[in-house]
Amino acid sequence: MPPPDIRIAGVTAGYRGHPVLHELSATIPGGQVTALAGPNGSGKSTLLGILAGVITPSAGTLRPEHVRPAFVVQHSSVPPTLPITVGETVAMGRWAHRGAWRRLTRRDRTIVRECLDLMNIADLADRRLDTLSGGQRQRALLAQALAQESGLLLLDEPTTGLDSLAQQEISEAVRRAGDQGVTVVYATHSREDALRADHCLLLRDGRIAAQGNPCTVLRGERTAEPA
Ligand code: ADP
Ligand code: MG
Repeated sequence: MPPPDIRIAGVTAGYRGHPVLHELSATIPGGQVTALAGPNGSGKSTLLGILAGVITPSAGTLRPEHVRPAFVVQHSSVPPTLPITVGETVAMGRWAHRGAWRRLTRRDRTIVRECLDLMNIADLADRRLDTLSGGQRQRALLAQALAQESGLLLLDEPTTGLDSLAQQEISEAVRRAGDQGVTVVYATHSREDALRADHCLLLRDGRIAAQGNPCTVLRGERTAEPA
């Protein structure tokens, strides 16, 4: 059974009284890949924060209420010198199930291995995160999120700052994650990137400018990037 649709109704939110999202309503289809498109500053990260439960809206509702999402923050905000391996990074995805100081079960180890395989980084398991390329590191973070076995995977600008080959690798990895039947939502300011999704929410100034099929939504948008 696919995960349920996520319904955002009349959500207003911001920072210290400065409103960013204005009575935003949208539906995110369960079990599909949705792109949150829009220029920088349009509210994509704020909306992801609401879906992740780290930002509380001042008005509006989110359904269903009890979701435990896996959230991959923008990778530039991950310290580049974290002295842990790829395998350990992905194993951390099991902490929510296990607690940090418990030994991994055989099932945990199987899941970690499957997630490494799915992201094509099994051969990098013993490498330190800080020795990887940007695209490899991003795939390690994606594998960590997948290992949480959440029904909702949230990704903030997963391809931003990567070269075009790595961007393509990440897009394909996001697609494979979507093919696992989970609901995937990724923010992007790239039109090309947004066109690869099943569904698209186009944000402008904290409001939904359009939602639906990416080709239709982005028709006429020369680019989601700022002019
Ligand atoms: P996007 O991800 O589309 O670039 P954001 O959601 O990050 O957009 O930002 C939307 C608006 O909220 C911008 O005007 C930004 O300056 C503001 N903003 C984002 N984060 C904060 C914060 N922590 N404190 C105050 N304002 C913020
Ligand atoms: Mg952002």
